[in-house]
Amino acid sequence: MSQNVKFVINTVDREKEIVRMTLKNIKFLKDNKINFSLPVKTVEEEYDIKKYETFREKVEQAWDKKKDFTQRLLTFFHEPLETKFVVEISNYGPLGFYSFNKHAVTINLNTRLNPIDTIMHEMTHIMVEPFVLRYHISYHQKENIVNAILRILETTPSI
Ligand SMILES: [Zn+2]
Repeated sequence: MSQNVKFVINTVDREKEIVRMTLKNIKFLKDNKINFSLPVKTVEEEYDIKKYETFREKVEQAWDKKKDFTQRLLTFFHEPLETKFVVEISNYGPLGFYSFNKHAVTINLNTRLNPIDTIMHEMTHIMVEPFVLRYHISYHQKENIVNAILRILETTPSI
């Protein structure tokens, strides 16, 4: 398994935090046509550890084939090659989002997108974030920058 990226299953408490955060940002999510999911019943009632474990196994195996992405990304940004990321697995919230401070990507296991593409996208966001803050880059500009970098990294020879 990749040494840079650790996959973790969210606890009930963390899931509740994600639900609160999603509700707080619901207007932004809807305005920007970002898909998300929320519990129908309570988080506790819906919490099914097997569902998370199955997803984690699938995504860890797929990630293993893509792990040189992390090295390309870190090289591009002149970051230490041992830089760590966490990928949190959630049942709720947007299909993918990131936390710069925690160096964490959160992925919604209900996503119909390729989770590997989402993880690469969100990891690139983490790398770009200091520039976004420094230059006051808007949401749409930020997405364009992330997608442009991903295209460059796709065509970079592996290290
Ligand atoms: Zn994005």
